[in-house]
Amino acid sequence: MKYIFGNWKMYLSVEDSLSLAKEIASLQFSEPKVCIFPNALAFCAVQDIFAINQNIDVGAQNIAWTPRGAYTGALSAEIYKQSNAKYAIVGHSERRYIFGETNIDVRKKIEACFAANIIPVVCIGETREDKELNTRAIRLKEQIKSIFENLDLSTAELFIAYEPVWAISRGNSADPCKPEDVEDVHGFIRQEISQYTDKTVPVLYGGSVNAENVVSYTVLPSVDGVLCGNASTKKEFWEFVSKL
Ligand code: PEP
Repeated sequence: MKYIFGNWKMYLSVEDSLSLAKEIASLQFSEPKVCIFPNALAFCAVQDIFAINQNIDVGAQNIAWTPRGAYTGALSAEIYKQSNAKYAIVGHSERRYIFGETNIDVRKKIEACFAANIIPVVCIGETREDKELNTRAIRLKEQIKSIFENLDLSTAELFIAYEPVWAISRGNSADPCKPEDVEDVHGFIRQEISQYTDKTVPVLYGGSVNAENVVSYTVLPSVDGVLCGNASTKKEFWEFVSKL
């Protein structure tokens, strides 16, 4: 089973989110398992649209690390769960590098997801600077350690999304990571994870995935699926994915 996850970020208005959700709901997805991460205001209405198509899940783009309380503007995993979120993206590079989230925050959010019975999709990846300084392995090791060390996975599931920060399009074109490099890095990530758990942890790739290149990633044995940003806001992408 391959996963195709679409993170709509803050690209679409509520109205545009609903109209794209209706287009996607009219498609039939056979093999790939689809999850859409709409903006928080569109979340419930998008979930309602997908409720008639059981193959499509919805997830939160971000969650707070605490369930309830005086946290102006925050939304918890518990609240998202009540609105039928299956997954939550945690540690996205835009949260880490624009909003200043640390590995410690990421870990707290993972535990908040577990407490609410939501599956965290935890993003890791090296920056452009890491790439230039050849410190990718160090960056990934420290991120993986902070995610998995002493983490109780006995009753919980977790996904990893390998998203090299330099490959994320952020609305403009960026160079995706080459499939052969993704295969190597995913091997490294799986080896690192195996130091902490025997559990199978799905590993997705994200970074400038689109209709032209998605298959070059989903065919790779070490890739369980993709997390896609910009292209996932286009109906043509989902039409293509529905034919896979
Ligand atoms: C992302 O931000 O998770 C992402 C993969 O974005 P894009 O597909 O636009 O590069």
